[in-house]
Amino acid sequence: MASQSVLQANEFSQSTLVEQWKQKYQTGDFVSLLKRHWREYVLIVFQPSDDQTREERLANKYLFGPLEHFLCDGDPETVFQELKEKDQPSQLCGHVFKNGEPTYSCRECATDPTCVLCMDCFQASPHKKHRYRMSTSGGGGYCDCGDPEAWKIDPFCGNHKPKEETQTAENSMDSLPDLLVNRASALFLACLRYTVEILTWEQSDSLPDSLQPDGELSDTYVCMLFNDEVHTYEQVISTLQKAVNCSHKEAVDYATTVDREGRSSVTYGSFAECEKARNLVERQTSRYGGKALKVQVMHTAVVAHQQFALRMIGWLQTIIGRSDGLRSLFCLLSMQQQENEKSLMEILLLADTRLWKTARVQSHQLMMAGVLMDQECKKKFAIIFTKHYSDLMKAFCLDDHDHDVSIASLSVQIFTVISLARLLVSEHNLLSVILQTFLQACEEKKKDGKLSFERAGTQMFKRACFSLHDLKYALLCKPGPGEWTDQFRRSFLAGYSHFLELLKLIEGMDQVKRQTGQHLEFEPEWEGAFNLQLKLEDNIVLFMEWCASDRQVLVEAYNLTVEALSSCTTVDRNKKEICTVAGHKTECIKFDVSAHHVSIHLPVTRMLAGLHTHLGEHGLAFESPDCSLVRPVPIELIELPLRVLVMVAQSNANMWRRNGYALINQIFFYHNVKCRTEMYDRDIVMLQIGASMMDGNDFLIQLLNKFGLIAWAKEEYDAPASGQEDSLRQTVLLAEELLDLLIIILGERFIPGLGEVTKGDIVRREVIHQLCISPLAHSELAKALPEDTNHETGLEEVVKDVATFKKATPAKVSQSAGKGRYELKPEFYESYNPYFYHYTKGDKSKSEEMQIKRKKAGESQALPPPVPPKFKPMFAPIVNILQCDVMIFLMELVLSRAAAVRSRSLSETQLERVLHLICLGLHEQKRAVEEGNRSFDFLARVCTPARSKKGGDRCIQMLLDSIVNSQTITHDSIRDLVTWTVKLLTEVRQLKNEPVAMETRENVATPRDAKAEAARKKKQAAAEKRRQKIMAQMSAMQKNFIKENADLFENTSTDLFPRVGSDMDLSDVPSSSYPVAVGAKRTRVTGAQPQIGTCILCQEEQEITHTSKAMVLTAFVQKSTVLSQQHGNALIHGDDFDPLFMRSDLGTACHLSSCGHMMHADCWQSFFDAILARERRRPLRFRHHYSYDIEKLEFLCPLCECISNTVIPVLPGASGTAIDRSPNVQLSFSDWLDGIHKTVLNSVKEPDDIEKKTDHNEESILYQPCPLTAVTRLMTDSVASNFKALWAYIQDPSRDLPAETREMLRKFSRDAYSVGLGVEPDDENPRVPIMVWNTCAFSIMSLEQQLREEGKPLFGQLSSRQSDCMRSLVKVAAAHSQTANPELTKQHCIKLLTFLFPDSIKGKTCILDVDLFHYLVAMVMSLPSLHQDVTSASCFVNTLPAGGVNDQHILHLVLAAHLVQVLLTFDEGNCGMEVDDDYEGEALLIQYDHLHTMANLQKESTPLPSQLSVHVRRAMLPFLRCAALLFHNLTGVQVPADLTEVADEPTTTEFDNVCRYLGISHHMSRLLDNQGELMYNLVNRWCKNGVLKDRFSASSQAMVQYPLPINKLIQLPDDYSELINKVSTFTCPKSDGDDSRAPTMCLVCGQMLCSQSYCCQTEFEGVTIGAATEHAYKCGAGSAIFLRVRECQILLLAGRTKGCFVPPPYIDNYGETDQGLRRGNPLHLCKDSYAHLEKLWMSHSIPETIAHNLESNATLLTIDWQHL
Ligand SMILES: [Zn+2]
Ligand SMILES: [Zn+2]
Ligand SMILES: [Zn+2]
Ligand SMILES: [Zn+2]
Ligand SMILES: [Zn+2]
Ligand SMILES: [Zn+2]
Ligand SMILES: [Zn+2]
Repeated sequence: MASQSVLQANEFSQSTLVEQWKQKYQTGDFVSLLKRHWREYVLIVFQPSDDQTREERLANKYLFGPLEHFLCDGDPETVFQELKEKDQPSQLCGHVFKNGEPTYSCRECATDPTCVLCMDCFQASPHKKHRYRMSTSGGGGYCDCGDPEAWKIDPFCGNHKPKEETQTAENSMDSLPDLLVNRASALFLACLRYTVEILTWEQSDSLPDSLQPDGELSDTYVCMLFNDEVHTYEQVISTLQKAVNCSHKEAVDYATTVDREGRSSVTYGSFAECEKARNLVERQTSRYGGKALKVQVMHTAVVAHQQFALRMIGWLQTIIGRSDGLRSLFCLLSMQQQENEKSLMEILLLADTRLWKTARVQSHQLMMAGVLMDQECKKKFAIIFTKHYSDLMKAFCLDDHDHDVSIASLSVQIFTVISLARLLVSEHNLLSVILQTFLQACEEKKKDGKLSFERAGTQMFKRACFSLHDLKYALLCKPGPGEWTDQFRRSFLAGYSHFLELLKLIEGMDQVKRQTGQHLEFEPEWEGAFNLQLKLEDNIVLFMEWCASDRQVLVEAYNLTVEALSSCTTVDRNKKEICTVAGHKTECIKFDVSAHHVSIHLPVTRMLAGLHTHLGEHGLAFESPDCSLVRPVPIELIELPLRVLVMVAQSNANMWRRNGYALINQIFFYHNVKCRTEMYDRDIVMLQIGASMMDGNDFLIQLLNKFGLIAWAKEEYDAPASGQEDSLRQTVLLAEELLDLLIIILGERFIPGLGEVTKGDIVRREVIHQLCISPLAHSELAKALPEDTNHETGLEEVVKDVATFKKATPAKVSQSAGKGRYELKPEFYESYNPYFYHYTKGDKSKSEEMQIKRKKAGESQALPPPVPPKFKPMFAPIVNILQCDVMIFLMELVLSRAAAVRSRSLSETQLERVLHLICLGLHEQKRAVEEGNRSFDFLARVCTPARSKKGGDRCIQMLLDSIVNSQTITHDSIRDLVTWTVKLLTEVRQLKNEPVAMETRENVATPRDAKAEAARKKKQAAAEKRRQKIMAQMSAMQKNFIKENADLFENTSTDLFPRVGSDMDLSDVPSSSYPVAVGAKRTRVTGAQPQIGTCILCQEEQEITHTSKAMVLTAFVQKSTVLSQQHGNALIHGDDFDPLFMRSDLGTACHLSSCGHMMHADCWQSFFDAILARERRRPLRFRHHYSYDIEKLEFLCPLCECISNTVIPVLPGASGTAIDRSPNVQLSFSDWLDGIHKTVLNSVKEPDDIEKKTDHNEESILYQPCPLTAVTRLMTDSVASNFKALWAYIQDPSRDLPAETREMLRKFSRDAYSVGLGVEPDDENPRVPIMVWNTCAFSIMSLEQQLREEGKPLFGQLSSRQSDCMRSLVKVAAAHSQTANPELTKQHCIKLLTFLFPDSIKGKTCILDVDLFHYLVAMVMSLPSLHQDVTSASCFVNTLPAGGVNDQHILHLVLAAHLVQVLLTFDEGNCGMEVDDDYEGEALLIQYDHLHTMANLQKESTPLPSQLSVHVRRAMLPFLRCAALLFHNLTGVQVPADLTEVADEPTTTEFDNVCRYLGISHHMSRLLDNQGELMYNLVNRWCKNGVLKDRFSASSQAMVQYPLPINKLIQLPDDYSELINKVSTFTCPKSDGDDSRAPTMCLVCGQMLCSQSYCCQTEFEGVTIGAATEHAYKCGAGSAIFLRVRECQILLLAGRTKGCFVPPPYIDNYGETDQGLRRGNPLHLCKDSYAHLEKLWMSHSIPETIAHNLESNATLLTIDWQHL
């Protein structure tokens, strides 16, 4: 069939086809013609094929092209362009968000948080300057710019502002030509019908008749695999590998496609083959009784049409986007009823769950771009959506796709549009529809009329809960005062009664009963109810706001609620008991909280409490004649909330200990800021309602009864010897709890509707009390405050009034540092109330401590209650409780117990609380006096004994006076509170014009001052003395400890090496002689002190000599690309890599660092063996769960836990050994050069048998060192003897290194070799010595650069770990020849020399290709071996380089070569600077010209002499600084003072000083001038090298220039949203055009990666790794630093299995980072913390940082870092 079709396709002519269509269109049956075309061509275009572009190309050519031409009747582009011009400038942005795109909302102006702007609109909108919130879109949804309903103000951005008074009323369709309208109508309908028909087509092996191809269907099928949320990626992959016999890679591709698109064809073949595959997949996946993967065998023709239908949707979307008119037309048609009375959109809507993922997403997008953009159609669509809401939700619950790919998720687009929502609520009963849908879902969770959740919540119910979000959206459209209509009220109240039904299911659920005997057997489920509560919270608030907005609605809702409450209450009214307190008798509901079931869930009761607080706003009262409010029975109202509060009190009194964590958690969340507003707070309000409606005495007795404190409230209770001590303690605690509750009921008035307060007052008070606990960062403060339905706390409006924001320096990349904090302003200290009802016990005591700390010495420590605001009239009766008999009785009771000599039932806490209550009473009294309210007379009650009692007859005032000086009160603050209360009492009495006896006042003041104060002071003094003594003891102990462990604190690192010749101690440097480190004039190192080190393991101190025990430093060796001038090519496996010549771009190098901690070699060995043994015992699966990898020989430094993977031996000083006995050699540079040249000539041989080979094959050259005599034979006698002397050191067996040290040297070399090259250890490998030298060279270069970057001097400010590590490393590199095969070192030396002594101008490497500092180090280390007499030497001390004449000349030679590099690569235009006479510059210019001539390079311009001399100094300084570091550590020659300070002018003073120290002229031109003929010839050969010229060609890789630029992390934008925006356009590079889930940016090279995703995984060493890990290898040779843009966090990776997250360098205005973008505040780059990250990377500290993080945070160990 296929070949035949192609034949037809070749005959295809678009114009003929379109012409046919047009004719048929005129005559009628256009659609069948269209279908005939599709029937044929769809199968041609959509064949199973790997070539994606072919499909697209053909689809456009054969299918869409003709459609467009038909539609336009002409050239589509021209026609569409004309249409576009007729468009009104759109006022709606409507931009549809992609997954991950940034969205912006305005906290001040958005109607609700779902109203968002796209980046473009935001940038052009006024909200940019408001408090905005930034987040990333989950995909779907569109920009609300231009929608006046979405924004309180400024609905338009600059781009979408309506033009001046343009009449937009006319229908945009009218602007279309009639003919076009007709054609478009026919075409749109046909296309849309086709699409709907195909997408809803259920047959898998046949097509609708009109599309069925002629003849038999071919036997070509695919096996289609569908997505589900049950099976994991791994399951799918392994199943596919077995079932369809594909590779792992293919299986991953299939699985990825299934996940992304919802389905993928996994087999293509005959029906039988596909059936077989289907069976296998189903059997495989259902084997363990699980649900099988969904697979279907489909005919290729069906699949092809489905593909086309999908493309058709996309095409339609594009077409309607081209013109408003076309869009309106399309919308109209798509919403038109069809034959079956449903519109096409409706059919598509209902088919949703039957579609696969991409098909759904596409059709949703078509809806959004189409009908939802058109006002009229949107309304129609909304009504249809509401009509089917219940079915859609049910389908969604049964489905297993995520909510955001379900049609149900369109609710947010519809219900949040206020005008639409109002229409739907009032005319289409939206609230009832949603609630009924949800109530149906609740049916399955019902047990005994209540909801009841199993431990494992079912998926279905979770999905059903999305309705509660929809409910919230629907409730956002609260009508304004004039907007209520009768119909609106009716449908709202209908919805409200459904809501009450839901609340009734919750009221009383999850009851708990106190366990007495044994602990609860299993923890009951409690989370389900709280999850539901959290989801309901906003809805409760919104319902309440709706009710409160209309008087009539409020009345009816109130009555409905009372009715609902009485129908579901669990209170048994018939069980009553009579209680008597203080002569008052009252009837109480009999219920023992500690013995019966109690439920913490009371949403109906709490709803009523909420509604009640709104009654006052509408002037409603039960008494008012015009209102039909049902008056509930107060005693029944308070019963249930009271039970909960009593249960909490009993739990605080430890009575519910056996009920386990479920209860503790319930109580915790009951008070938690997320739930308390609609739980705890409402219960308090309900008690206050009860208190306002009941007689005070009755109310108090109810409380006493429920608390079980009737007995306690009798005078007799205090009589000794009754009851058990245990229950007494409980009673004391319960009495404290009761008093606490009374304070709250009477004092808490910062509740809307209850006290005379505004919303702002309430938030302000919360903020004040939070800040009384401690200063807080913005996020901490925001978290402590409840959020409103818009997720706002109101914090910003008030916080500036009450607190000052103190910024902290954002220096560290640590979580806490850098945050600014709010501190309470002192004028608000007085507002502090220790009984603030939102305090936890911990908060209370912390805040009290803090307030007392704030007080000045001698100030009263009392923390009295602040004056509370006034109650609203309806609640005003509550204050009367303060003056009722029972209250006065209780006060007297506690006070008299406090005044008594002994009391068994008193606690100071009770006293404190009673004092608090008295103060409250006095405050109220003051207010009453000021307002002239005579009915309140608390004072009278206080001052007259009212008790009808047998014993004492003292009133409260007298009782207070009697305890004011009491010494038995132990707390200062309580004693001071008594005093304070008495003072307040006096004040109020004066105010009320009551005579206050002078003595009373005296009474108050004097005794306190005299006796008590004296006693107190004495006590304080004693305490102070004791404290001082303890402090002194402590400090003595500390000092002692430091002394005993002095080695730990100091010796271990700082004093490791003798300070002579070191950085700091310059006192004995003779000022006249400038120290010189290299050459014949080298400064002698005198008076070397013994080096002492202490082993951190055995604490033994020890001198480091040639005979003592070997010592080592822990060290870490790693590959590095930090200095590399070329990204992304790091060396991974160095099996065939020759490291002898380091490339000048420093490709991949090897770095060593150390924490500087020293140990005996044998101590370390046994330490390490122990770790190995322990790890080997550990089961394999636990092994990798460690911050270090034992397989890689990693361990943690036993002292500081720094990650380490090797040790480096500490060697005795080379200074003072070889150097002192070196002969006085007199050998000029040119003679030396000649000698070396002769050596090279005699040592390089080509084997005879292959001499005729055309190419110089490097492998065939033999490097066979010649004997010294072979060279000296050719010299004059004096030169010969001096030349000989260079290798003729005196041998001294006593200087030989001990075997143990040699072993450690070998270990270090082995590790440097195997880590540095990424190969298996091999001691015999010839590359081992090279890697040691290279590690030394690179570590020096890295250190030099770091110092330069940090602006530190070259010497003098190194940390001890840096200088210890450097010194050991240089010495080890120098001593390496002692353990290596001497012949090998010789060979390396000669091979190295051939580079600068080439025998021809041929060769593949030129002078520009090699890094000369690496070269210098290798030369210096190997040169002493060149002519070493191997036969006679048993000791190799003579092979140690020591800064002698050899070093001087090799330095000269390498420097000269470096100068050639610098001059050849100088590439700066003539900068035309003013020229002084610059002889150095002139000389350099001559050389510059000469070199360029020799190299045959044309220069466009010639630099100025001065320019050249400046450049040469600048470019060569880094090399010279490195050389100074090298020779200082090699020779120990002290450093000139100049180099320990930062030079003002590095290129002059520092340059000169470094040169002096190295014993060379600071005139660089002299390196080349007059150095003899040989030197001239060498330079000539360097320049004429054949490949050198290629390096300058444009095609070659960027040439390295000097000085090497310092690598930095990439520049990041200041505004974080720029990054988010950037990644939103980033797509996975491997799966064309798809979103990447975790776009991750390499901060070193800037590359963007698709991390943490199967699509971009690769195989590496047999393991699957993610894109970031792969990149870490390529870019950072194993370690790397990334920014995960969506998560806003830094990712560090090292060595494949390890990583960690650190805070991002972005902070908000409060100095806080926002990992995960949860807060959404605008973020800006923090330069300091970015610099800190840069330093972390530059100093090679990534592995160390990761290890520390892994050590301190165990959860990081469980992350699969390699898959990131
Ligand atoms: Zn926009
Ligand atoms: Zn806009
Ligand atoms: Zn705004
Ligand atoms: Zn030791
Ligand atoms: Zn350490
Ligand atoms: Zn990818
Ligand atoms: Zn990179």
